[in-house]
Amino acid sequence: MDTSCDILILGGGLVGASLACALDGSGLRVGMVEASEPASGAPGFDERKLALSLGSLNALAALEVLPGLATPPAPIRRIHVSRVGDFGSVELRADEFGRERFGAVVLARELGAALETRLDGLADLARWRPARVVAVMPEGESPRVRIEQAGEQRELQARLLVAADGTRSLARSACGIGADEHDYGQHLFVCSLQTDRPPDGGAYERFSAQGPVALLPMAGGHYGALCGVAAGDAKRIAAMDDAAYADYFQQRFGWRAGRVRRVGKRSHYPLSRVVARDLVAGRCLLMGNAAQTIHPVGAQGFNLGLRDALTYAELLQDRRAGAGVPDPGEPALLADYVEARREDRESTLAFSDGLARLTANDSPGLSALRSLALLAFAQSPSVRAPLVSGAMGFRGRIPRLARTPA
Ligand SMILES: Cc1cc2nc3c(=O)[nH]c(=O)nc-3n(C[C@H](O)[C@H](O)[C@H](O)COP(=O)(O)OP(=O)(O)OC[C@H]3O[C@@H](n4cnc5c(N)ncnc54)[C@H](O)[C@@H]3O)c2cc1C
Repeated sequence: MDTSCDILILGGGLVGASLACALDGSGLRVGMVEASEPASGAPGFDERKLALSLGSLNALAALEVLPGLATPPAPIRRIHVSRVGDFGSVELRADEFGRERFGAVVLARELGAALETRLDGLADLARWRPARVVAVMPEGESPRVRIEQAGEQRELQARLLVAADGTRSLARSACGIGADEHDYGQHLFVCSLQTDRPPDGGAYERFSAQGPVALLPMAGGHYGALCGVAAGDAKRIAAMDDAAYADYFQQRFGWRAGRVRRVGKRSHYPLSRVVARDLVAGRCLLMGNAAQTIHPVGAQGFNLGLRDALTYAELLQDRRAGAGVPDPGEPALLADYVEARREDRESTLAFSDGLARLTANDSPGLSALRSLALLAFAQSPSVRAPLVSGAMGFRGRIPRLARTPA
C-alpha cells in the first residue's frame, strides 16, 4: 500500500470515521490509522446511548450513514428537566420550536457499525488497521507518523495529519499542544432500562449533587438510562446486582417514568474535561475528543466533533470549487478552520461545563437562583429559543450538511 496520502486521519472512532465519509469525493488521497481490531470495533463503538442533535441527524443522513443503522434512531420530542432539592421543573416540547423532534437517540455500537459499513464502501480510502500510531513528526510540509502493525514499524507521510485519536491524543502531545484538564469527580453509569411506562418520545434529565440522572427514549420499548455518581461510590455501585441497581436508580430518578422493571448490563465512565489549547500545530489539526472532551451531561461531545469534521470537509470543498485541487494542510485553510470553529466550540464548551458544575452545586443560595432561572426558562420563549437551538446543533457557523434534512 502507498505510504503517502494527502490527508491522514489518526483514529477511526466516531469522529475520524465521520471525517473519512465527509471527505469522500474530495479527489484527495485519504488514509486512516486505527488501533482497534475490526472484529471488536473501535472502543467508542460501545453500549453508550448517544443523543444526536437535529443537525447531526441531517448530516449523517446526507453522508449515507443513517440508513445503515440496525435500529432506527428514537426521536426525542419532549425533554423534562428538574433538579433534586430545587423548586420547579420545565418541559420543553419540540413542536413549540416548530420542530417535529429535538434530535434522536442511537446506540454508539450501532452508529459505529453503520459508519464501518459506509467506510467499507469508500474505494479510495486507505486503511491501516489494526495499527497503532507510535510517533508523530508534525514538522515541515510533509508531516510523518510511525505506525506499528503486526509487529512491524513503518512510516507514513501526508500533507495534513488529522488527530482524531481521542482524549489522550498522542498526536496532540507530540505536536506540543497543551490541554486544560478538570476532573469532575463523577462516574457516569449507562445501561438499558425498562419501566412499566414505555417511552413515548419523552426524555428526562434530573440533576443532583452527585451528577445527572437521565432517561433517553430508545427503540424497542426501553430507555437509555444514565446515572452520575460520586467517583468514590462508583466501585460500590458497580458491584450491585440488577435488582439493587434498579432500586438505586428509582430512588435517584423518582417515579416520573413509572416503576423501574428491568435494567440491562451496566458500564461506567469516569468524567473529565480535557480541552486542547490550540487546534492546529504546523500541518496537524485536532478534532473530536482529541480537541475537546466534555461532560456528557448536555449530550454534545460527538455532535460537536461531527461539526468539526463537517466544517473542515466543507472548507476544503469550497477551496476546491475555487482553484482546482487544494493543498489540504495549507496554513490559511487551517486558520480558516480554527476561526470557523471558534464560536460553536466556545459556546458548547461553556454550555456543557456550566451545566455540569452549576447543577451539581448544592449550596442553598445557588439552589434559589437555579429555581429562578428555571422559572425564567420555563416562561420565556426568548430565553429558551437560543439555548434549545444551540443544543440542537445550530450554533455559530453551521455546516451546510447539518442545516437541512437530506
Ligand atoms: C457515557 C457517555 C455518553 C455520551 N453521550 C453522548 C451523547 O449523548 N451525545 C454526544 O454527542 N456525545 C456523547 N458522548 C461523547 C461521545 O461519545 C464522544 O464525544 C465521541 O465518542 C468522541 O469520538 P472521537 O472519535 O473523537 O474519539 P474516540 O471515540 O476516543 O476515538 C478515538 C479513536 O482513536 C483510536 N486511537 C487512539 N490512539 C491511537 C493510536 N495511537 N493509534 C491508532 N489509533 C488510535 C482509538 O482506538 C479510537 O477508536 C458521550 C460520552 C460518554 C462517555
